[in-house]
Amino acid sequence: MKLFDRAVVATLPLVPRAIVRKIADRYIAGETIEDAMRVVRALNGAGCEATIDVLGEFITDFKQAEATATAYRQVLERITTEKLRANVSIKLTAFGLGLNDDGCLALARGLVARAKELNNFVRIDMENSPYTTKTLGVYRRLKNEGFINCGVVIQAYMRRSPADVADLLKLGTGFRLCKGIYVETPEIAYKDREEVRNQYKSLLQQMFEGGATKVGIATHDPPLIEHARQLLIDHKIPKERYEFQMLLGVAEEWRKRLVAEGHTVRVYVPFGREWYGYSIRRIKENPSIAGYVAKGMFGLG
Ligand SMILES: Cc1cc2nc3c(=O)[nH]c(=O)nc-3n(C[C@H](O)[C@H](O)[C@H](O)COP(=O)(O)OP(=O)(O)OC[C@H]3O[C@@H](n4cnc5c(N)ncnc54)[C@H](O)[C@@H]3O)c2cc1C
Repeated sequence: MKLFDRAVVATLPLVPRAIVRKIADRYIAGETIEDAMRVVRALNGAGCEATIDVLGEFITDFKQAEATATAYRQVLERITTEKLRANVSIKLTAFGLGLNDDGCLALARGLVARAKELNNFVRIDMENSPYTTKTLGVYRRLKNEGFINCGVVIQAYMRRSPADVADLLKLGTGFRLCKGIYVETPEIAYKDREEVRNQYKSLLQQMFEGGATKVGIATHDPPLIEHARQLLIDHKIPKERYEFQMLLGVAEEWRKRLVAEGHTVRVYVPFGREWYGYSIRRIKENPSIAGYVAKGMFGLG
């Protein structure tokens, strides 16, 4: 990231929320379930699948977790009634992980059970390292209870990921593979861009060779997309064993290209009133951040 962009990142907390909202408009569907349905309908029309994220992190009261679980149930019902091609992605801290672990498991189980009845699927996002073991624990527990309609995420920057993948493959599982977004120490996570890329490539290979049921290849990084496309050819991976996954508002040209080539592409569609934290994470990852902030604040850029 350029020096000026880094300076802009440092001042992001000072940028007024209204401006952040404007800049982040491309990354979130909106604040309401109607916004999410409209965006998913359009994505389905453009040949993409979707996964819906109800934004709601950093809870302090388990009642907020219950409200989030209820909101997700409504999303699942609406996906069914509107016959949309979409599933849901959840964050366990928003379901009470770290606050009330048993309550979190119960809420997650309830949602996965309802999804099963509706023939749908729940992806458990991976959060920062204090929650990695616990998140995998909830996933394992649900899997052992017979819920095959849920999946987990592996972060390529985590040093522990090859061991986690080896362990999870014994369960007969699928994955989403992403680079990882949270700030971690060098003892826990690779920091170097090339090291993260290399581990991404080797994890993808480990997953396919180890018999992963399905892999969500979640990246917008062109060298990784190109590597994955070649791996799919070399290993003769059938369509039902993989999909590409991208975030709403990112790398749209790649998304269209992959759809045109006949790959399944699933777009991550976040919505909700708690849009601020997610938006800041996305803005920080944008390589043209300074331009976006300038444009948002002054109509320039
Ligand atoms: C479907 C999906 C689900 C995810 N789930 C998780 C999760 O559960 N846990 C987790 O830790 N992380 C998750 N992530 C985020 C992920 O870890 C990365 O932070 C993010 O995808 C950026 O990594 P990248 O592979 O695209 O590579 P990068 O090197 O960050 O980006 C590659 C290129 O993509 C473009 N790009 C990337 N981000 C932006 C942006 N915000 N705005 C504009 N252009 C951009 C740029 O051209 C950039 O050069 C998920 C990502 C996806 C796509």
